[in-house]
Amino acid sequence: MISALMPTYNRADLAFERGEGAWLYTTDGRRFLDFAAGIATCSLGHANPHLVKAITEQAARVMHVSNLFRVPQAERLADRLVQATFADSVFFCNSGAEANEGMVKAVRRAQAKSGHPERTRILCFEGAFHGRTLGMLSATGNPTYLDGFGERAPGFDHVPLNNMNAVRAAITPETAGVMLEPVQGESGIRSADVRFLKELRSMCDEFGLFLAFDEVQTGVGRTGKLFAHEWAGVTPDVMSTAKGLGGGFPIGAILATEAVAKHLTAGSHGTTFGGNPLACAAANAVLDVLLAPGFMDQVCARAALLGTKLDELLKDFPDVFSERRGMGLLIGLKCVPKAADVLTAVHNAGMLAVTAGDNVLRLVPPLTITESDCEEAVARLRKAAEAVRAAALEAVS
Ligand SMILES: *Cc1c(COP(=O)(O)O)cnc(C)c1O
Repeated sequence: MISALMPTYNRADLAFERGEGAWLYTTDGRRFLDFAAGIATCSLGHANPHLVKAITEQAARVMHVSNLFRVPQAERLADRLVQATFADSVFFCNSGAEANEGMVKAVRRAQAKSGHPERTRILCFEGAFHGRTLGMLSATGNPTYLDGFGERAPGFDHVPLNNMNAVRAAITPETAGVMLEPVQGESGIRSADVRFLKELRSMCDEFGLFLAFDEVQTGVGRTGKLFAHEWAGVTPDVMSTAKGLGGGFPIGAILATEAVAKHLTAGSHGTTFGGNPLACAAANAVLDVLLAPGFMDQVCARAALLGTKLDELLKDFPDVFSERRGMGLLIGLKCVPKAADVLTAVHNAGMLAVTAGDNVLRLVPPLTITESDCEEAVARLRKAAEAVRAAALEAVS
């Protein structure tokens, strides 16, 4: 018989009762070092006192009022995001897919309202992941995710990443904009080249197209900058973010320049839950930590420490890990055996991680990890790699 909870995930048989920092505890008292962080979401780790206080205090006052009224927590959060980024204006929603849907709507509408209603198509990239709604499935383009869900939503074209000739060849009079992740997350931590991003920016300027970054996973400090595109010195016209923004509380956002945002006039786009006082209180608490002087330097220092130690691990276990990828605390380890088997060994060693496409083990710890968490992580990965190696040797003998 089917489980009461729909079987859309192959879940590991682990249930956690509580967490503290980068650690999660099961009901039977086992503890796991959490380098999954709810899939790059629990940016402040678990039970962060500042985040817990902000959420409990806000919940006790007022959680939700709808967007028919002013929401001071959302106004403050938007102000802070505008201050900290390229954006002039922000729209809040509830998830990454919803942010991307709104981002595509914003691009199309800005084209339509500035004299180009024929420009509706969005250029996307092979290996992209933009979410699971009907529209974003089509933007993602992965046949596995599309299987059985009917016709693709029209208006999305795909070309290989980091190939400017392919991009230029795919631009038509109907192209409205280009959408990409600065680092592709789900498909295996594959980075867009800095040069490619710069060329996309100048091509968009040349042809009057909008550059849209999906920073749902790379945003909010994950790569060691508030947003990953800052590393390339390339700013988009519009950007989505979500995962880490609420520290585990669901919230997404579309950040846009005035040229794009001014076309999303009253009644043109909306959401019931988006940007409610509770979600915005959570995100404001996350920003309190992330925007504090020195915090991003600390993220970069932890990432550098992990990088050095992971490179030693890779050198010792070339039969398990073949490559390290990523930026900041968005780390991919390409596996030699099946990544799913490596993940099982990692679980057995008391650590959580996530797989990604291209046979990659993805490490996305809380941004607040300590040096000792980093050392413990590599020690546990080493234990897992030894177990994987031993199992492989046993299989051939
Ligand atoms: C996770 C993710 C999404 C989808 O976010 P949801 O909150 O699951 O809808 C979209 N884009 C990227 C890059 C992601 O990593």
